[in-house]
Amino acid sequence: MSLFPTYNRFPLTIVSGEGTKVTDDQGKEYLDFVSGIAVCNLGHRPPKVQEALQKQLDQVWHVSNLYEIPAQQKAAELLCEGSGLDYAFFCNSGAEANEAAIKLARKHTGREKIISFKQSFHGRTFATMSATGQAKIQEGFGSLLQTFEYFPYNDKEAIERVHDGSVAAIMVEVIQGEGGVIPGTTEFLQAVEAKCDELGALMIIDEVQTGIGRTGKTFAYQHHGLNPDIVTTAKGLGSGFPVGAMIGKEKLAPSFSAGAHGSTFGGNPLASAAVQATLEEIFVSSFLTDVEEKGHTFVQALQEELSSLNSVKDIRGKGLMIGVEVDTPAIELVHSLRGRGLLAVVAGPNVLRLLPPLTVETEELQRAAALIKASLVEQEKNLQNA
Ligand SMILES: *Cc1c(COP(=O)(O)O)cnc(C)c1O
Repeated sequence: MSLFPTYNRFPLTIVSGEGTKVTDDQGKEYLDFVSGIAVCNLGHRPPKVQEALQKQLDQVWHVSNLYEIPAQQKAAELLCEGSGLDYAFFCNSGAEANEAAIKLARKHTGREKIISFKQSFHGRTFATMSATGQAKIQEGFGSLLQTFEYFPYNDKEAIERVHDGSVAAIMVEVIQGEGGVIPGTTEFLQAVEAKCDELGALMIIDEVQTGIGRTGKTFAYQHHGLNPDIVTTAKGLGSGFPVGAMIGKEKLAPSFSAGAHGSTFGGNPLASAAVQATLEEIFVSSFLTDVEEKGHTFVQALQEELSSLNSVKDIRGKGLMIGVEVDTPAIELVHSLRGRGLLAVVAGPNVLRLLPPLTVETEELQRAAALIKASLVEQEKNLQNA
């Protein structure tokens, strides 16, 4: 009541969290393999981020971008170091980061058309909803930005056939998250980059979900040796503090000169303190190697537990962004797992998406794999008896 019914909420109220564990208002404990949808990458209430926020709370909460904000500068340096790009712009969400990217690409190139991909997800504002290649996101809202064209994902030949001097940018996810945890192939992603170079268009990589260590690299494009012009990020960036960022190459700076773009809250001292503390922990090579190893451990555990089950069609992903494709409605599995004390989320109708905190323990990964097996075995048994 009193809330627009924009969300289908599960009947679950989480009242506390620490690390991988959350507790509901009935005192029941869960392993959280949703992490606020790839937000709590350091787990719940990571001590160093909490400390940084507490310190900032005691100093000053909000300072306008009319003034210098040293923590924002520091956060930008960490993002640039971690991405190899030159400048960062802070905003408050993934959609806003993509808005900034779309505006910047159009202004810098003086062109309007942007290519994005079917089954992509880029956000819910008008421009980012227009970028999103899913009719169900767009329906009912009237005319969209008219300048998006949607290409099939992972179709290298289709991209190679583009010969169009009016393309400002190609916008792509390294792994389609909402679209079903679909990893882009290196050949496809490199073809996108080559096409951008050929057309004089900008390559925009949406790392809102895949960035901030999620896949075992600072940003997932680093698995494929790519050299994007613009990278957008948000979800894991502030460990749960709402913040987004667009990072880009130096050549783009003149198009985002004073007055060209802005945000009241973007990169305020609290957000910047959260970003700085988060990145100081995640953008460390030993931490990232650990994530990659945990990812292998998890996939191996899932393969061992699930390979004998008929309902499991595929186990895929990178680092700790894993999809388990099943031939039954994935939402039923999510409900069943919640009953067993494991929180997971769907990605499309048939994919169970698993996004544990990057700080998850090996034992927790193994426990989760066993719980998923138990739920699937029960489902298969129920189907046989039906
Ligand atoms: C979640 C997501 C967005 C939108 O982020 P919001 O913070 O909800 O606006 C954009 N792109 C991708 C790839 C996402 O996963």
